[in-house]
Amino acid sequence: MVLYRLFGEGEFDHRKLIDSLLEKLVHATGNKGEYFDRETGEIKTYPKKNWCYPANLFIKANPKPKKIKIDGKDYFLHPPRYELKLSFSRKKEPCDICAQIAPSTKAKMWNYPFVVEPGKFANFYPGLKRELKVCPTCAVAGLAAYLGWLWCAQGRDALHIFCFHGDLWDLERLQREVFDSLRLEEKGRNVPLAFYGPYLHETAWGLLLRLFSYVRRHSPEAEKLSSEARELLKKLFGASDGGSAQPLVLYVVTGKPGQAFNMQLFKEFGRLAALYRLYKKWINLFEDYDRPQKIVENVFRQFQKKEGRNFHTIWRDRISAAVLEMGDPLPFVEEFLYEGADKKPLVFGTLEVLEVYLKEVLEMDADLLKVIRGFGYNLGSTAQRENEMGLLYALRNAKNLDEFFRVLNDVQYRLRLTVPEDLLVVEPGESIKGSPWRRVKTLLSIYTMNAYLRAQNKGQS
Ligand SMILES: [Zn+2]
Repeated sequence: MVLYRLFGEGEFDHRKLIDSLLEKLVHATGNKGEYFDRETGEIKTYPKKNWCYPANLFIKANPKPKKIKIDGKDYFLHPPRYELKLSFSRKKEPCDICAQIAPSTKAKMWNYPFVVEPGKFANFYPGLKRELKVCPTCAVAGLAAYLGWLWCAQGRDALHIFCFHGDLWDLERLQREVFDSLRLEEKGRNVPLAFYGPYLHETAWGLLLRLFSYVRRHSPEAEKLSSEARELLKKLFGASDGGSAQPLVLYVVTGKPGQAFNMQLFKEFGRLAALYRLYKKWINLFEDYDRPQKIVENVFRQFQKKEGRNFHTIWRDRISAAVLEMGDPLPFVEEFLYEGADKKPLVFGTLEVLEVYLKEVLEMDADLLKVIRGFGYNLGSTAQRENEMGLLYALRNAKNLDEFFRVLNDVQYRLRLTVPEDLLVVEPGESIKGSPWRRVKTLLSIYTMNAYLRAQNKGQS
């Protein structure tokens, strides 16, 4: 796709393509170096260059011109020339990527970094036991890919790389009409994200939440997009009526940058249409407010804890993973509230966002939800008044149904509250109104602690 955008359709000499790709991948650093010019016998300066980030983590071909010693100091004999060379077999064979019969070359670190390090990246191409052989087109395409990546980095902690898959022509439009307009020239990332951290899921979810907002114009950046570009995004999420586009799939690679890139996780996310539908429901909740997008983003952003100069974001990553995979985020919300939230209640909108999720994705009974919300609020604020924090921890730590009921019994006795009958009717499989008892317990413990902290914070202020 990058090759097509840069050079159009046609037949090209691979060396010429590599040379023009190099011009884009090698940047002047702003520093100057010195070399000795033999013809004139003078020491001259040249602009120092380097592979641009993050290509420099993968391309290690740094030129080392011959040196000469003058007055005890080493000088290059000419400015370093950045080059990459490919040699192809005379014998034609099928390309491992596109299957075309052509002269072949072994894939190298600089054009296929995720395939050629079998120890680290074996999961990427599990079927291949030998080295990867590629045709001239695919060999050059691997290098061009660096210019198409979206990425986000956090210093030495992580580098995330995002790639999309879909119809090639749509993908070309996506790059040209959407990502070109949004591209950031920031040091740490080249695409806007609602939030990010060292982990894969939180960062992928931060990207999707922001991309979803562009379809609905819920961000200043979305104003930069044309209405055609917004329509395209909508179609690619699989959210337009009768659109037959091949829906996008998001691929995320996360690893630690360093001398070499050390891949830690590789994930594929489909079902973007379902996530987008969910997102629309969340935005609708806050339609009467100024910035619904900001409210929804803040709900997910909050699950982090400041530690020294950094943020500890494991809860946000787990919650994002649950949402992306349509699983249960409640245990991580509970853990955050009891251990990470610094005795502060959840931010505005959190419970509403969770309720939509519980109804839509986990199919929780709407009446049960109402009962848990009402009772949780009552229990939490009464416990705060009576200074009974211990009851909340006992509730949170209930390990089985018997313990759960014992705690509820304690609540009736010590706080003189009546436990709603709905919570006490157990069905086969230890479920309560169609939901596993543990989920009911976890949600109740979230509501309760949140009401407790709200009352406490109100009292203090
Ligand atoms: Zn090929």
